[in-house]
Amino acid sequence: MLNRNVLTILLISSFIVLLAACSQNTDVSVDNNPPNTITDNESAKEQDDEEPEEDSVVEEEELVLPSQELQKGDQGEEILLLQKALIKLGYEISPSNVYDSETVWAITDFQIQTEKLFITGIYDEPTRTALEELLEKEKTITPGEGLPLIEEENLDEDTVVIANPYEVLSLVNKQHALPKDYVPSDLVYPEVRFPFVEELPKRQMRKIAAEALEKMFADADLESLDLFAQSGYRSYERQDVLFASYVSNHGEEEANTFSARPGESEHQSGLTMDVTSPHVNYALVVEFGETEEGIWLEEHAAEYGFIIRYPKGKEAITGYQYEPWHLRYVGVKAAKEIMERGITLEEYLEELLEI
Ligand SMILES: [Zn+2]
Repeated sequence: MLNRNVLTILLISSFIVLLAACSQNTDVSVDNNPPNTITDNESAKEQDDEEPEEDSVVEEEELVLPSQELQKGDQGEEILLLQKALIKLGYEISPSNVYDSETVWAITDFQIQTEKLFITGIYDEPTRTALEELLEKEKTITPGEGLPLIEEENLDEDTVVIANPYEVLSLVNKQHALPKDYVPSDLVYPEVRFPFVEELPKRQMRKIAAEALEKMFADADLESLDLFAQSGYRSYERQDVLFASYVSNHGEEEANTFSARPGESEHQSGLTMDVTSPHVNYALVVEFGETEEGIWLEEHAAEYGFIIRYPKGKEAITGYQYEPWHLRYVGVKAAKEIMERGITLEEYLEELLEI
């Protein structure tokens, strides 16, 4: 592993090489490998001496990062630009024009290591600004320090343990489990109504989802609705206890239709909140879907980045009965498409990954 000083020198020298190459009308933007020998560094300096200043303007244009929001599955030239910037920072990813899982990993890792950014795996405006700052100031980052780059791992015949639990488009279901030791580092207590006063852990959500939930509740209040949050984050251990008690009362097969084995509950992701209303006595029941609150959520949750994760008629795909109360944060773009098309997260991701 290179130390920070060496990386800083490499970044400076790679910038010099870019400047020099520009004067020769060479497109060096395809060069993904920063110079990594002293010889490169020295020859770059020699060329730099002959460098006319105005050409640096052209080079700055080359470094411009994409301005639009990008996420898993997106394709095009702008993805390549983003990937080149990430490679310059030291991420060993393959430039591919596709916002693939490696790119999601690099963005997630960068966000975890950068204070004040939401951790989402989505390339957004604040992430762009932070990346630009780092490139301009020639600061360095240690790839993988926030989120190690690992492969999905088989848990058993039917289930894998997902490699990136932090991305908001992660799939967590009966075939895709969260790591046993995964506790999101960015859990907070959203300021919304609960039908109880205790500061229980289940009030928590990850920051990005908590802020979206607060906004949604505030807007629902303006419509004179009576939304209440009931249950958010749930640890692996808590799910273990819950599931065991369901199994002893209902048997494993039945328990599996309304609850999840530990690791397979979306509540462990911190991106989920069960919501309810006084019209159904604060219960988590199918009738909630018929209440004013349930109907409003069906229509508006996506505007805040939430989906009704287990819709009616999709039991065979999600593995769960209809749950109009179970909201999952996936980001506004995905949520709008999923809710407008009446599809599930499974179907949405399957289409993305087929590309
Ligand atoms: Zn739930």
